[in-house]
Amino acid sequence: MKLYSFKGGVHPADRKELSADKAIEPLPVPSQLDVLMSQHIGAVCEPAVEKKQEVKAGDVIGESPAFVSAKIHAPLDGTVKDIALRSHPVLGRVKAVVIDVAQGRQPLEPLEFSGDFDLDGVSGEQIIESIADAGIVGMGGAGFPASVKVTPNPKLPKHTLIVNACECEPYITCDYRLMLEHTPKLITGIMLLKKASGAQRAYIGLEANKPEAAKMITEYLDKKGLSEQIKLVMLETMYPQGGERQLINAVLGKPIKPGVIPPMEGLLVSNVATACAVTEAVVAKKPLTHRVVTVSGGGINSPANLYVPVGTQVSEIIEHCGGLKPETEKLILGGPMMGFSIAELNTPIIKTTGSVLALTKKETHGARSLHETNCLKCGRCLDVCPEGLNPTRIATAVKNGKLELAKDYYISACMECGSCSYVCPAKFEVSGYIKTGKALLSKMAKKG
Ligand code: SF4
Ligand code: SF4
Repeated sequence: MKLYSFKGGVHPADRKELSADKAIEPLPVPSQLDVLMSQHIGAVCEPAVEKKQEVKAGDVIGESPAFVSAKIHAPLDGTVKDIALRSHPVLGRVKAVVIDVAQGRQPLEPLEFSGDFDLDGVSGEQIIESIADAGIVGMGGAGFPASVKVTPNPKLPKHTLIVNACECEPYITCDYRLMLEHTPKLITGIMLLKKASGAQRAYIGLEANKPEAAKMITEYLDKKGLSEQIKLVMLETMYPQGGERQLINAVLGKPIKPGVIPPMEGLLVSNVATACAVTEAVVAKKPLTHRVVTVSGGGINSPANLYVPVGTQVSEIIEHCGGLKPETEKLILGGPMMGFSIAELNTPIIKTTGSVLALTKKETHGARSLHETNCLKCGRCLDVCPEGLNPTRIATAVKNGKLELAKDYYISACMECGSCSYVCPAKFEVSGYIKTGKALLSKMAKKG
């Protein structure tokens, strides 16, 4: 079978075997949820509830009047205990609605869906309205409000939908389990996204290391007579195959030019969990209040794929998975390449958190540098950079405080995939410097 790919990339050990066979199971009802008001790209939400107010699962508890934003709902029944600052996986401390969860039976199971749905019975506008009402954001990590992304734009009509089913970061298997266990939900979600956006074609880009998922999807598409409408494209197992630009390049066989973003080319990219959430929103009017989270890494006692309410603290998840092994060195939300390490166990998960990883020293070795030395000019980082940049040149410019020079070397085009740091034999923290440079430039731009 021909496998498609992009130029560059790395192939870290994927360690999917730790959790790939773990069926999705619901986390027992947590006693408290810290639902952060910053869960997406765009305007931050303000709490729509007050202290001591009772809330029902699905009630709106945070919203913003801005167009680019997404509503936030109560995942479970309970009482608002507080409105207070809590740790965000990325942004420091942000406002949260703290819910004292009512104990007893709570709707924790993922919605079962057979696939019986009349697509003709719903209009594109109704689909978009349901997506907005459900507060759906891109669940692959970016967190862009889905209703905004899908809404047709006469100036930039969308002709092609590409679903990112790569899950190219090591360890993570939450989307894989959704593909296996909720195939009808995924395919219906793709058809709904296609209809809402006006896209004529749809593709699923899937890495070759997931043959079982390929089988399930192919069989279901055949059974439903949808094989012509949704094409499955098998891709090389390579990181960052799931990067938006790399995925488009691999699936369509043409790179996106620097400075061009997918909507400018008529392209809409979505991910597996997002498509499933769209089905739940349209078919069952279910808001996005839970997600599947992979709990894995050599430091966790019992790896799992858990169905977790948004706002659950990491400590609760780890405890359910048998706790941490003493050799754990680092806790990461997201993948080991692009995720964020956290210092506080009470950090809550948000809509974009696909994994909680507990990594040992041995496992973190390849992704970070302990004893940085000077660049050896070996050129490996140039070979692997999926954006065709010269990483060492940019990083050195930042290290020497020459931010204007870094700009000239196209620092803004870096997708922060970390491939350059991964291959660097000198342990030069290439992507670390680049990230710092980008943050400094963004701060300077905001100041004017
Ligand atoms: S320069 Fe940026 S895009 Fe290129 S490999 Fe390094 S982190 Fe990835
Ligand atoms: S991989 Fe490391 S040592 Fe080699 S050129 Fe890049 S920064 Fe220098």
